[in-house]
Amino acid sequence: MALIVQKYGGTSVGSTERIKSVARRVARHHRDGHQLIVVPSAMSGETNRLLALAKEISPNPNPRELDVVAATGEQVTIGLLSIALHELGLKAKSYTGGQVRVLTDSAFTKARILKIDEERIRKDLAAGMVVIVAGFQGVDAEGNITTLGRGGSDTSGVALAAALSADECQIYTDVDGVYTTDPRIVPEARRLDRITFEEMLEMASLGSKVLQIRSVEFAGKYKVKLRVLSSFEDPESTSTGTLITYEEDDTMEQAIISGIAFNRDEAKISLMGVEDRPGVAYAILGPIAAANIDVDMIVQNIGASGHTDFSFTVNRGEYQNALDVLAKEKGKGFSAREIIGDNKIGKVSLVGIGMRSHVGIAAKMFRTLADEQINIQMISTSEIKTSVVIDEKYLELAVRVLHRAFELERAPQPA
Ligand code: ASP
Ligand code: MG
Repeated sequence: MALIVQKYGGTSVGSTERIKSVARRVARHHRDGHQLIVVPSAMSGETNRLLALAKEISPNPNPRELDVVAATGEQVTIGLLSIALHELGLKAKSYTGGQVRVLTDSAFTKARILKIDEERIRKDLAAGMVVIVAGFQGVDAEGNITTLGRGGSDTSGVALAAALSADECQIYTDVDGVYTTDPRIVPEARRLDRITFEEMLEMASLGSKVLQIRSVEFAGKYKVKLRVLSSFEDPESTSTGTLITYEEDDTMEQAIISGIAFNRDEAKISLMGVEDRPGVAYAILGPIAAANIDVDMIVQNIGASGHTDFSFTVNRGEYQNALDVLAKEKGKGFSAREIIGDNKIGKVSLVGIGMRSHVGIAAKMFRTLADEQINIQMISTSEIKTSVVIDEKYLELAVRVLHRAFELERAPQPA
C-alpha cells in the first residue's frame, strides 16, 4: 500500500465527463489498496474567465480580492469530484486550502506555502477516505484566502506530498510524459521513462512547459518523487509516464543528452564599441535589472584598442523596453558607437547530465548546425546544458537535425 498524491490539471477536469473519468481512475487506485489525496485544478479556462471578470470591473483589481475570486475555480472541482466518487460508492471528502490549512505568506496572487496541517487528512485517510484538496490556494496567518500563482496547483500537489511524506506525487495532464523534445516539431520525439530534477528544470525553464517550475524546484528540495502521466488514457491504463527523480542510480537511462529545449521568444541587443574598462557591464546591465528585465545570455568580446562589443538576450516582450532603457542611459553610465538589436532570434539547448562526463558534445552540436548552414550567433554552456542563439527561421530545422544527430528517437540501453 502506498500513499499517493494525484494532481489533475485543468483539461483533466474540464467537463463533468472528464471529472467522472478522473473519479474512475482514483477508484481504481483505491481498489488497488492505495491511500489517495487528489488535488484538482479549476476546469480549463475557468481561472482565466474569473480573472477577466475582475478586470471588467477594474483595470487594477485589489490583489486580496482577486484571490478571493480566483480561488473559487478549484472549489467547484473539488466538490464535483467528491460527488463523482460518492457515485462510485467511495468515501471521499473535499477541502479548500483554508479548511486543510495550507498556510501561506500574504503575497496575494503569488503566495508561498509555509506549512500544511496534516492531522485531518491523516485521519480521513485512515478511515478509508479519498481526500480531495483544492489546488492553487491557501490561507495566510490572518485567514485571508491566497493563491499560489498561475499553474500553482502543481506546487500544491508537491507540497502535500512533501508534508505527508507521500510515496509519489503523480501529475496528470494532457500529455503522457516528458518528451525528448516537442513532438509537434519532431514526430519521432520519444517519451522519457526518467529524467533528473536538474534536467527537468533546464527543460522546463527553456520552454518545455509540462510542469510549473516552482513545483519542480520544490520536489527536488524535498525529494518528492514526481511522475507525469496522461489523464486521457483509459482509467485502467498501466502506463507509467515519466518519473522525475533525484537519483542518478544505476538503472537510470545512460543517455548523454536527454532532450532538446527551445525558445522562440527571445531578442538580442548588441552594444558596439563600448569602452573596455571596469564597471561597463554593470553600467549597461544595472539599469536593465532596475527596470525588472530578465537577462538570459551575455557575451562580451575580447577588447581591442580600448573598445569591445557587448551583447545580451532578453525575452522578446521586453525587447523595446530594454532598448528604451539603454537609449536613456547611453552617454551617461557608458558610451557606445551603436546599439543594434534583433528580435527574430531563437534559442536551442541540448540538456543532459551525461555532458558532465562526456567531451565533444558541443563540437558535434556545432558541426550538425554547420552542415545545415545555420549560423550560430551566441553560445552559452553550463554543466548539463549547451545553448545556441540562431535566426528564428532556422529554429525548427535546428531542433530536427540535432534530434537526429544525437539519435534521441532511440531509447538508451540500460547500463
Ligand atoms: N487554476 C490555476 C491556473 O489556471 C492553477 C492551476 O491550474 O494550476 O493557473
Ligand atoms: Mg496547470
